[in-house]
Amino acid sequence: MNFKEYIRVIPDFPQPGIRFKDITTLLQNGAVYKEAIDQLKELIKEKEIDVIAGPEARGFVIGAPLAYALGVGFIPIRKSGKLPGETIEVDYALEYGKDKLAMHKDAIKPGQKVLIADDLLATGGTIQSSIDLIEQLGGDIVGAAFLIELSYLEGRNKFKGIDVVSLVQY
Ligand code: 5GP
Repeated sequence: MNFKEYIRVIPDFPQPGIRFKDITTLLQNGAVYKEAIDQLKELIKEKEIDVIAGPEARGFVIGAPLAYALGVGFIPIRKSGKLPGETIEVDYALEYGKDKLAMHKDAIKPGQKVLIADDLLATGGTIQSSIDLIEQLGGDIVGAAFLIELSYLEGRNKFKGIDVVSLVQY
């Protein structure tokens, strides 16, 4: 399946010069969304995974169905101030902005095998911050899975020890 046909590219969003990959046009097609999750599941089938962690909000849209398909837990990584329990936080830089990401302190038990999932890998800043949080909690990161990878930004080079898989590359 050519997933690119279902991903809409919107120029100058959210800032001039950014060509935003809009996945809502893929998600709204049930057969294509299911195929994307099924193919991502296939890409990670050799891995031993206890839980999947995904950053809000589009990381939930990819990570949660993948977790359901594997029968493992899902852990939300959220912007600061959203999680109700005790949290740990890290600063993170985006392709176009800055913020803080948070996880519940008890979300991961030391030694648990964690797969990170998100819709898109750009500079890798979001995933680097997610890695920092998961490692602070003692999680063992077994890989990172993305619907889309902006290969020209070479985000995967930020975390060399971690196996990165993606379905669609630009
Ligand atoms: P990074 O931290 O790798 O630079 O940026 C990736 C994060 O920003 C992801 O969480 C992703 O949801 C969001 N993001 C950045 N650019 C795009 C884009 O073009 N399309 C979508 N759907 N998300 C993007």
